[in-house]
Amino acid sequence: MLVHLSLGSNTGDREGFLLSALRSLNARNSVRVVSVSSVYETEPIGYQQQPDFLNLAAAVETELAPLELLDVIQDIESQLGRTPTERWGPRVIDIDIVLWGGLELESERLTIPHRSFRERAFVLEPLLEIAGDAIDPVTGMSIADLAARPTVQGWVRPYRPAPDAGSFV
Ligand code: ADP
Ligand code: MG
Repeated sequence: MLVHLSLGSNTGDREGFLLSALRSLNARNSVRVVSVSSVYETEPIGYQQQPDFLNLAAAVETELAPLELLDVIQDIESQLGRTPTERWGPRVIDIDIVLWGGLELESERLTIPHRSFRERAFVLEPLLEIAGDAIDPVTGMSIADLAARPTVQGWVRPYRPAPDAGSFV
């Protein structure tokens, strides 16, 4: 299954955490990173008094079930030093599942598509680069359609071209 992820970091070596997360994902037998967007610098949404983020989008191929991939993601987040207190504040790494093909899933631990991705430029702009045609099953809109709406929140600016495969494979 092809799954679209959003990764973000806003403390310490932000770019290093993004690359480490990609490397850790790809190191799992059950997950293969197939494409990665450029890196963007983005405005914190929600709680503003914190450093700017670096964000990127990635597509991964996986045989895992959604909750199994969430387990992997949370394992990698804690390996990289993320602590539960970072919910609204600065975090070393945040990995969110944005789209899982046409799947819609609602459970205590996991909502797919991601609950608030449609309003967030920091998710949509990177994703636009690698999956502009991907369809949000809830609205029927493509990523390109969603990214073009005036209600999308937050500035984003290009920070660095996409990491080449050698840096995380
Ligand atoms: P956020 O990403 O919303 O800023 P967190 O990363 O702290 O916040 O995630 C909080 C919880 O969100 C996680 O414990 C996870 O169980 C849940 N969650 C629900 N849907 C998703 C999803 N699509 N991707 C990742 N986590 C999700
Ligand atoms: Mg998260």
